[in-house]
Amino acid sequence: MDIIFLGTNGWYDSPTGNTICTLINSERYHILLDAGNGIHKADRYIKDDLPVFLFLSHFHLDHIEGLHVLNKFRFPGLTILGQKGTSGVLNTIMNEPFTVPLEKLPFSVTIRELSPGPYKLPFPLDCRFLRHASPCMGYRFDLDGKIITYCPDTGPCENAVLLAEDADLLISECAFLPGEESADWPHLSPQAAADIAIQAKAKKLALTHFDAERYQSLQMRQEAAASVQGYQEIIVGQDGLVIRI
Ligand SMILES: [Zn+2]
Ligand SMILES: [Zn+2]
Repeated sequence: MDIIFLGTNGWYDSPTGNTICTLINSERYHILLDAGNGIHKADRYIKDDLPVFLFLSHFHLDHIEGLHVLNKFRFPGLTILGQKGTSGVLNTIMNEPFTVPLEKLPFSVTIRELSPGPYKLPFPLDCRFLRHASPCMGYRFDLDGKIITYCPDTGPCENAVLLAEDADLLISECAFLPGEESADWPHLSPQAAADIAIQAKAKKLALTHFDAERYQSLQMRQEAAASVQGYQEIIVGQDGLVIRI
């Protein structure tokens, strides 16, 4: 199974990358995590007719601004999943005068709204709300015998640990610099993300959603990850990186 980082920035595009989007290519499904501007590269890695699922964590624009390029794809069909209210939001922004309406895309789109899980979609899924300025859902997938957890915008919270319990890979946000924390604007520093991985006994941690203003270079990402103590298995996300697990 390949995990492909299509966009690894938080907030805005910059020379370090596009806003956040991650693709999981499993044996039977393509799973997109959020729809930042990095989503425009999805067709470099989706070249077959396997079903495509897009999970939205929340509606901050850096997580959905790539939706307006959906009409470049020729998916066999697309299921978009997100928290309650997803239909209303998508039918507003994926519409005139902003972009091509969902029903005019060159493939059929199904929207499914999720309450906190667990679920048995075609694959087992759990989802829980994280700690963020706007309600943000984290996801735990069971695919090809591996557990992959996705915790985008959040501060430290118990639900992130529960979602990541014994995960083979935790994909976590890393908006903050080392040593930074905020009660008003919860996000994670590299150490805070690693502390979740440690508590959850996650086998590997991949950092993404590096705030574009704080992380001005890929070198800064590497140095930040190198500052983490007590956890070794850290992968520093950057656009185009492919992880095989
Ligand atoms: Zn964000
Ligand atoms: Zn956000």
